[in-house]
Amino acid sequence: MTAPRPTPADRRSGIGWDSHRLVEGRPFILGGVQIDSPVGLHGHSDADVLAHAITDALLGAAGLGDIGDHFPDTDAAYAGADSIKLLEDVLGKVRALGWEVENVDTTVVAERPKLGPKKRAIAERLAEVLGLHPSAVGVKASTGEGLGFVGRGEGVAALAVAQLRGSAGSTSR
Ligand code: MG
Repeated sequence: MTAPRPTPADRRSGIGWDSHRLVEGRPFILGGVQIDSPVGLHGHSDADVLAHAITDALLGAAGLGDIGDHFPDTDAAYAGADSIKLLEDVLGKVRALGWEVENVDTTVVAERPKLGPKKRAIAERLAEVLGLHPSAVGVKASTGEGLGFVGRGEGVAALAVAQLRGSAGSTSR
């Protein structure tokens, strides 16, 4: 069944979550920004945990499944993939259905490295990718307070919500 084309009055929201292990010998890339760190994120792609959470939020909002449906980690084509490219690919699919992104809000949960100094750069990079003003892209940093896999410094998690609105040029059919 084909989904009805959204009207400009239509809104949809989506949620995304991801986590990746911290390991030595990998770059730490978050929201398309490389961060100086003795440890990086392990994964099939570049393991950009924040880009993945946002991608899932967009997919969920548009009724398009999840990131694993679109970019299986069993597919060699996505080994070492730039996750911003994957996010852009999904953005294209979302827009093709008649949706535009209204805003994205995120929280990164990490004990290390300290993300505070990079929050603005990450928001600006993501805003550029999503075609939004940086004020429409929230990048918040939290820690695990010593609890769980995040608190022990074993990994990093990211949460995202995305709000979509029907494109201005879109009409219902
Ligand atoms: Mg991931």
